Amino acid sequence: MAQQTVLAVCAHPDDEILGAGATLAKHLAQGDRVCFVFMTDGEAARGSFDGAEARRHAAYGATTAIGASKDDICFFDFPDNRLDTVAMLDLAQAIEKTVERFRPRVIYTHHRGDLNVDHRLTHQAVLTACRPVPDSTVHAIYGFEVLSSTEWASPSADNAFIPVHYVDIVDFWDQKLAALKAYDHEMRTFPHARSYEAVEALAKLRGAHVGLEKAEAFSVIHQRG
Ligand SMILES: [Zn+2]
Repeated sequence: MAQQTVLAVCAHPDDEILGAGATLAKHLAQGDRVCFVFMTDGEAARGSFDGAEARRHAAYGATTAIGASKDDICFFDFPDNRLDTVAMLDLAQAIEKTVERFRPRVIYTHHRGDLNVDHRLTHQAVLTACRPVPDSTVHAIYGFEVLSSTEWASPSADNAFIPVHYVDIVDFWDQKLAALKAYDHEMRTFPHARSYEAVEALAKLRGAHVGLEKAEAFSVIHQRG
């Protein structure tokens, strides 16, 4: 496949690595350009960390650990855990601007049914900004799962995360782990869902679903080819 531009649209720094870190590392290893958008600075979510600047620093550390360029990272400072106080139009327009700037062919973003409100609204804003009109550069949008949000939502058919696209990440697991270390302050002790053990267990389970040692799994929101 020819080289392509990939965009990860995330609510918070750390979602990109938890959801798709190894897959994005794989894209980079294949010569693709991988760009990142963070909608919030992640400042309010957990008091254990010290401000937006430090969160950005962690995001730079994580994304460059998988081989991305600092120039391909875009931060918006919409209010953390309060995206529901922002007009959807403003969220969608912010994403539209980055889509115009990066012209991605593939987008990875949140699952629509996550517990976290910022995740749900980021998903909605991506779909609003990336309607599959004839001249759109975007040929595929994939939804990723984020431990301690996707599986913590109210259980219903409407919220269900239904992966159909599995990426073999066995050769990129170490890079995902190294990137996750940039967010070490966000990680908790097992059996918390947001622990290194749980992240690895999920990768193994998703892998075993399709006969791989480790995988990241994605829903397909749309895909044309
Ligand atoms: Zn998040």
